[in-house]
Amino acid sequence: MQSSQTTDFDAIVVGAGFAGVALTHYLREAGLSLRVFDRAPDIGGTWAWNKYPGAATDSEGYYYCLTFSKEVLEEWTWSKRYPGWEETQNYLRFVADKFDMWPHLQFNTEITRAEYQADRGIWIVTTGDGATHTCRFFISGMGMISQPQIPNIPGQTTFKGPCFHSSRWPEGLEFAGKRVGIIGAGATTVQMLPEVAKTAASVTVFQRTPNFVMPAMQKPMTPEWEKEIKENYQEIIDKCRNHVFGMGFNPPSGRTVAESTPEEVQQVFEENWHGSFRWVFETFDDLLATPEANKAAADFIIEKMIKAKVEDPETAELLTPKGYPLFAKRPPLDHGYYEAFNRDNVKLVDIKDYEPIVEITETGVRTTQNHHEFDIIVLATGFKAYTGALEAMDIVGEGGQILRDKWQDQSSSIMGVAVAGYPNFFMVTGPQAPFANLPTSIEQNAQWISECVKKMNAEGKQVFYPSATAEEEWTNLTAEIHAQTMMAEGDKVNSWMMGANREDRKARVLIFFGGAHVYYDKLKESSDAGFPELAFADTAA
Ligand code: NAP
Repeated sequence: MQSSQTTDFDAIVVGAGFAGVALTHYLREAGLSLRVFDRAPDIGGTWAWNKYPGAATDSEGYYYCLTFSKEVLEEWTWSKRYPGWEETQNYLRFVADKFDMWPHLQFNTEITRAEYQADRGIWIVTTGDGATHTCRFFISGMGMISQPQIPNIPGQTTFKGPCFHSSRWPEGLEFAGKRVGIIGAGATTVQMLPEVAKTAASVTVFQRTPNFVMPAMQKPMTPEWEKEIKENYQEIIDKCRNHVFGMGFNPPSGRTVAESTPEEVQQVFEENWHGSFRWVFETFDDLLATPEANKAAADFIIEKMIKAKVEDPETAELLTPKGYPLFAKRPPLDHGYYEAFNRDNVKLVDIKDYEPIVEITETGVRTTQNHHEFDIIVLATGFKAYTGALEAMDIVGEGGQILRDKWQDQSSSIMGVAVAGYPNFFMVTGPQAPFANLPTSIEQNAQWISECVKKMNAEGKQVFYPSATAEEEWTNLTAEIHAQTMMAEGDKVNSWMMGANREDRKARVLIFFGGAHVYYDKLKESSDAGFPELAFADTAA
């Protein structure tokens, strides 16, 4: 059964990034009509918004991609190890061109409301201009780190120059010769600072919590490397599918810090110091499992990255993370961040202990100790991860409950793809999905969704109702696993991985930390078993 006679589309998808592109492929293959809406003016999702200087992937490009087309894997060439935002956006354009996806994509269109119609088993979706569209399946592909977290600093609107969130970098903004203030010191600032500092008159970074920053070791793609990748793509895809974070890394080494001598530990750390997150996963298997192993890794990073690179001891000390384990906050990758602090035009301000921010003024930032004058202020203050984009619109389920309200205290879901009380509603990488190499997770989710709708159409089912019991079981499992990991310490340091960075909500378990590969297995088991987490009905209730 398909409802294209009674609804405008079989599926409406929100978000034209990796998720929107993957869903377009898999849902079209399942025979659905669909429209993908995005408020951005172009394809890209994260890569249509995050255009700040230095924005690039932290996964290596050759596995930060979609794998449904062998031709695309063969034809597309990445220019470097970590492609910048433009190249990643061009990659998505290439995929959309090749598979004629553009007719499905509608830009500059914000979705403000989606309301389930219980009597008809359909959704009515409203856009920012008040227009409405109907569909059978409403699907979020909005990305897990997309809704900006704007800090509540007094005086923000009084600043005379540009003051904006890092993901809303104004097109063509000239910062050469300007005095730039950056509030926040997360992954975005780590990428942005080295680029901005090259030509700005001055850059001041306001830091509350320092991060463990690991080396990226950017390098160009060479013909030999590309040949090797393309000859081994199936193996790379399999590695991603079977990796704890969905990355194209080798399987566990079988080594542990606990069973190695200090000399062996240093030697293995040193020999594997080639950049990217692979260092964490290919050295020892207990780095994220025991405090002792984690500390050994943390000390090594501090020594190699901060003590060896930052010349001023006071600045080095301020940049050194303390009191929380490696990975309790998501570690950024370094493209010259620490070296930037050796420049005369770069300053670090400790807003945690020494001089907290009091307000933004017409001409700069006032702290308890100083007034810092700027021409430009960047709020690199992060995102309302996992749930923020879903909470920003009214998603109204059975009985009129808005999803934002359901998630007031706990962001429950079934495997991050469905929510009890929200029939015929799917999410790609929603809350309680793993945090992983996103294209890998996105494709696994898109496949689960397309298998589900194929089954419904084959069996003449109009509606699925996600089970409250399945949701409770998944939520409990996610919480149990979370409590056993060192990521649980993220609430001490405002980690977005627990929503602990938000000023409007309390921290909660947002991520399934049982391993992305385990999660992908569970999705497969679910679809093989006929989706036991969902109750299917021939007609709407
Ligand atoms: P973030 O890691 O959450 O960092 C936000 C920064 O702003 C933190 O230093 C935070 O301090 C600070 N901050 C927040 N509110 C503040 C306030 N009211 N006053 C002062 N400081 C405040 O955000 P992000 O750097 O945008 O990165 C978020 C995530 O996006 C990353 O972890 C990553 O997953 C993703 N990302 C990926 C890439 C990539 O893959 N290439 C690049 C950029 C971002 P506290 O730490 O003390 O809260």
